[in-house]
Amino acid sequence: MDFFSSANRISILEHLQNTFFDVIIIGGGITGAGIALDATSRGMKVALLEKADFASGTSSKSTKLIHGGLRYLKQFEIGLVREVGRERAIVHQLAPHIVRPEKMLLPLIKGGTYGSITTSAGLMIYDLLAGVNGDDKRKMLNKEETLNKEPLLKTNADSLKGGGYYAEYRTDDARLTIENIKSAIQHGAVCLNYVEVESFFYEKEKIGGVKCIDVQTGNKLAIKSTYIINATGPWVDKVRKKDEAIKGKRLFLSKGIHVVVPYERFPLQQSIYFDVPDGRMIFAIPRNRVTYIGTTDTPYNGDLNNIPIYQEDVEYLLKAANNMFPVLKLSIKDVESSWAGLRPLIHEEGKSASEMSRKDEIFESQTGLVSIAGGKLTGYRKMAERVLDLINRKFQKEYNKTFSNTHTHQIPLSNGAFKNSKEVKAYENNIATQLSSWQLPSYYSEYLVTNYGLQSDLILKRMQRYNDIPEIALARAEAWYSIHHELAYHPIDLLDRRSGRLYFYLPSVSTILPAILSEFKEALRLKDAQMQVLKEEVELAIKQISEFHPAS
Ligand SMILES: Cc1cc2nc3c(=O)[nH]c(=O)nc-3n(C[C@H](O)[C@H](O)[C@H](O)COP(=O)(O)OP(=O)(O)OC[C@H]3O[C@@H](n4cnc5c(N)ncnc54)[C@H](O)[C@@H]3O)c2cc1C
Repeated sequence: MDFFSSANRISILEHLQNTFFDVIIIGGGITGAGIALDATSRGMKVALLEKADFASGTSSKSTKLIHGGLRYLKQFEIGLVREVGRERAIVHQLAPHIVRPEKMLLPLIKGGTYGSITTSAGLMIYDLLAGVNGDDKRKMLNKEETLNKEPLLKTNADSLKGGGYYAEYRTDDARLTIENIKSAIQHGAVCLNYVEVESFFYEKEKIGGVKCIDVQTGNKLAIKSTYIINATGPWVDKVRKKDEAIKGKRLFLSKGIHVVVPYERFPLQQSIYFDVPDGRMIFAIPRNRVTYIGTTDTPYNGDLNNIPIYQEDVEYLLKAANNMFPVLKLSIKDVESSWAGLRPLIHEEGKSASEMSRKDEIFESQTGLVSIAGGKLTGYRKMAERVLDLINRKFQKEYNKTFSNTHTHQIPLSNGAFKNSKEVKAYENNIATQLSSWQLPSYYSEYLVTNYGLQSDLILKRMQRYNDIPEIALARAEAWYSIHHELAYHPIDLLDRRSGRLYFYLPSVSTILPAILSEFKEALRLKDAQMQVLKEEVELAIKQISEFHPAS
């Protein structure tokens, strides 16, 4: 059976109910997706259940950097910086079209967080811990060199002392998650979105399966397995409570928002990590036709499924950008779109949100529910390895059964489409040539290759079937691809998690929406009433990311 197509949803649900799994993973963010791929490639029989869409939680709301976290060095988190620093190069090799090298500029400002000597030493240690070599090693720049890297800083030249210039990677968090899900399915896992775990069932006081609801139909189902891993990010404690009362460590949720402005309004030449007057630091990252700015870091106790973006959050980021780049004069009217996410941190008494560690931890309940929380997008592979080494030991001890060790560092994503950045660039040029024959803007070449890798060929071939203007034909082809190859079930799944259009090309959405709705309607045989709900879902999402109100 084809487990990649939402058109097969009913059969996939039946298969889930009729199979006894080694492991059920709850949560289809990067943590769950990474665990699914690791577990299935070790030889385990795996099911992954996601209550909304894959990556719809924090894993589409990050700063989208595969980074070692320079800031954590200041907090002496040496082990964390070493691990995630080293992971960067591995994840880049696994998917060079999604994880792309990105040089970062850290301007040194009079009275700023970092001085020249501390920055030079800090970046050197950062490179050393991560094993960065050759040209990628950090460079310290004088004032003139810093201004050459980023001419926009000229408007703050009086306070500029110089800069640090170092290697990081940028990514698309949601795409990285979806490619892990797809690779897991390819290796034999069954992964399904819009299936919510509501409770557990037990055998001899040990957890033996999950009771779920198919969110699309309201139908209930039960799925059995030997072990269950709770990888639900910000929801980890909610799921733990379904099993037993929480004793000991619990989560602390911190909200972070990003805002997106048109590139013409913030024409950054290069990614930058800069000081905010309150002592924090934030990023500004150019991405094709826009630049995005983030992030905030504030405690959060509200609704996990609906994280508001207040006017105050947006103004904080705009003020910080205007402070570093006075020429910009950004106002809330410049904000095209935005996103908000929750960091699922492990609570530490007496520390503020920014001070709390980003390390991951594993909790095991009396009944055997294994939960994993904390961590970073960048460290997803190592988190998966740790939790599955534990599951492996449990299988050995309790069932005398063994599975292999992790080898996800050797499993390229997207079928190993590209070996390196050079191959990605060559393919992107080829796509750009094809796009020009369609008279589509060159914007779409990076867009297509980052999102769909080599599958861009399939999408461009599919376009030929449609008798529409090229932009709409492309959107239809993407809709078809996302439904049949990436388990998209709602139009918002394509616009948000699979293409990022909602954030990075919002003005295009109203043009293509009717065509996308009709593709979903036809492929999934949806009724008019269902279509109305799906359309309203998109309209509400647009409102939430582009209209801002005061907190009270
Ligand atoms: C503002 C911000 C910026 C960040 N920037 C970076 C960065 O640049 N680089 C980096 O490395 N890290 C970054 N991070 C951290 C990183 O994004 C997170 O660590 C990571 O995405 C967490 O992934 P997760 O899979 O654990 O959680 P999630 O992505 O939230 O996934 C959990 C999933 O579980 C599902 N779920 C919940 N309950 C149930 C249930 N009952 N049944 C079924 N499914 C359920 C949810 O729907 C959700 O999709 C950032 C985080 C934030 C908030």
